[in-house]
Amino acid sequence: MQYYSTNNPDHKVSLKEAVIKGLAPDQGLYMPESIPEMPVSFFEKLPSMSFQEIGYAVIGALFGEDLNEEQIKDLVDHTLIFDAPLVKVEEGIYSLELFHGPTLAFKDFGARFCSKLMSMLMEGEQRKVKVLVATSGDTGSAVANGFYNVPGVEVIILYPKGKVSELQEKQFTTLGGNIHCFEVDGMFDDCQRMVKDAFLDKELNDNMLLTSANSINIARWIPQCLYYFYAWSRLPEKNKKLAISVPSGNFGNLGAGILAQRMGLPIHTFVASTNINRVVPDFLHGLDFKAMPSVSTISNSMDVGNPSNFFRLLALYGNDEALFREKVKGFYFDDEDTAKAMKKVMEETGYVMDPHGAVGYLGLRNFIKMNPSDFVGIFLETAHPGKFKSVVDKVLGIDLELPARLAQFLNGEKKYEELKNDFAAFKSLLLKSR
Ligand SMILES: *Cc1c(COP(=O)(O)O)cnc(C)c1O
Repeated sequence: MQYYSTNNPDHKVSLKEAVIKGLAPDQGLYMPESIPEMPVSFFEKLPSMSFQEIGYAVIGALFGEDLNEEQIKDLVDHTLIFDAPLVKVEEGIYSLELFHGPTLAFKDFGARFCSKLMSMLMEGEQRKVKVLVATSGDTGSAVANGFYNVPGVEVIILYPKGKVSELQEKQFTTLGGNIHCFEVDGMFDDCQRMVKDAFLDKELNDNMLLTSANSINIARWIPQCLYYFYAWSRLPEKNKKLAISVPSGNFGNLGAGILAQRMGLPIHTFVASTNINRVVPDFLHGLDFKAMPSVSTISNSMDVGNPSNFFRLLALYGNDEALFREKVKGFYFDDEDTAKAMKKVMEETGYVMDPHGAVGYLGLRNFIKMNPSDFVGIFLETAHPGKFKSVVDKVLGIDLELPARLAQFLNGEKKYEELKNDFAAFKSLLLKSR
C-alpha cells in the first residue's frame, strides 16, 4: 500500500517512509491510498471474536501488503495487552473505557503500536532515529512509556510549562534513559510548531533521522480504529442507530473512528465534542476552518487551537465539506458545563468521569436530546479520572484513590531541561545532541 499526502495526492510513499517521516515534505498528512472494506462475514463474526482476533483481521486488511502474518500478529499482540470495556452508564449510554493501559489513557494503543512498527521497519538500519514529540500531556507519557528502552531510538519531548498536570508530567519526565524532556516557555501549539519546523529544516534532516510519534503519524493514528470495531462487537443494542461521541483535541481519535466507518463499521453519526477550543465545532456549524490560539481548560489534553488532523478528516470525506458537516455533529462546552456533568453523572449513577470523558458525555447527551430516541450512544472515556486527580477531587468533593501503576510514577524524580519558545534554540539543541 502507498500513502499520499493530503496536500498533494500525487506525492506517494511507502509504508516505511510514511512512518519514519511522519509528516510529508509539503506538510501534508499521509493517508492510505485506498481504504479496504471489511467483508460482511467479518461483521457477522465480530461479536464472538476476541479483541486480538479483531486486531489481526483489521490490521491485516490495512497493512497486509507490507507486513507478513507473523509481523501483524506481533504488532497486535504487543499493542492489545489490555482491555477496552464498554460500560453502561445510563439507559442507552455507554462509556468505552480506553484507559486500562500502562499510562491510563487511550494514547497507549497508538504509542505501543507505533514503537513496535517503527522498530520493525528500522531493522537493519545503521542510523539512530530521533522521535520528536510535542505533548499537551498524555501523548508524552504514552510515547515515553511506549519507546522507553527501545534500542536505536532517542525520544525528545516538548511540553508547555505549567500546562500539564503534575501526574502527566511525572509519567514522562521520570523515566530518563533514551527519553529526553524539555519544558517550553509557551503553549502546546508552540511546541507543535517547533516540532513541525524541525521536520522541515534541511540542515537538521541532512544530519539526523527525525521522526514523529504525534497523532499525525499513521502508525499512531491507524491502530486507534481497532477499539471502534471492538466497541460495536460488544454493544448489546445493535438494532439501534449508533452515535459515538469523541472528546477531541488534535482529532486523531475521531479520524480513526471515521476510518473504521469507511471500512464498513455501522456507525450512524459521530459527535465531535470539544472544550472551548472550538475550531472544529465552529466549522461544523458552517464557519470556515480557522486555527486559533489555544486556551487552557480543565480538559487540558484537548487544549488545541490548530488541530493537526483536520485535513485528514476532510480527506476521509473526499474533501467534501458538506458531507463532512452532514456526518459529524459538533458541540463544545466550557469548564463549568464539564464540571456539572461530572457531578450529575456521579450523583445519579455513581460513575466517575474524567474531564475529557465528561466533554464526550455532554456531546452525546446533547446529540441524543435533539434526536429521536432510536439512537444508542457511546462516548469514549479517554483517560482514567485519577490522571486528573486534583480537578476530579475538587469538582466531585472526593478523594479519588489512584490506581497503583499511576501512584508509582509519583515516586520518581523529574528530569527535564528548560527550552525557550524559539525554533533556533531547539535546532541548536538537536544539532548538539547528535
Ligand atoms: C489526547 C487526548 C484527547 C484528544 O485526542 P485527539 O486524538 O488529539 O483528538 C482526549 N482526551 C485525552 C485524555 C487525551 O489524552
